[in-house]
Amino acid sequence: MSESQPRPPVIPSRRPGFQVCYICGREFGSQSLGIHEPQCLEKWRVENSKLPKHLRRPEPSKPPPLSGSGSYTLQAANEAAAQSSQAQLLPCEACGRTFLPDQLLVHQRKSVSKP
Ligand SMILES: [Zn+2]
Ligand SMILES: [Zn+2]
Repeated sequence: MSESQPRPPVIPSRRPGFQVCYICGREFGSQSLGIHEPQCLEKWRVENSKLPKHLRRPEPSKPPPLSGSGSYTLQAANEAAAQSSQAQLLPCEACGRTFLPDQLLVHQRKSVSKP
């Protein structure tokens, strides 16, 4: 019979071609990310402007595109985008857990009100 075929290397990435939004950290196909990003940034601006001053964050900046191609650089770009979106989270001063600002407000409201 024929010799066994070499197996393709198993890449631990989740879906091929997905990209992480640097604002919300969700995954998108590369085409839908292009549509999503401006909308997401607009939503971010609206939400940020509604927050109390001490919770407002500087606008997230898009990580610079990495040169080269292939899954490695895509993974690196996704990691940079994920880190950028992580920076959007705010720590609770009481318990140290991190939340999105609107969730932090809900969380603090809950923990402040006692029965
Ligand atoms: Zn987003
Ligand atoms: Zn807390």
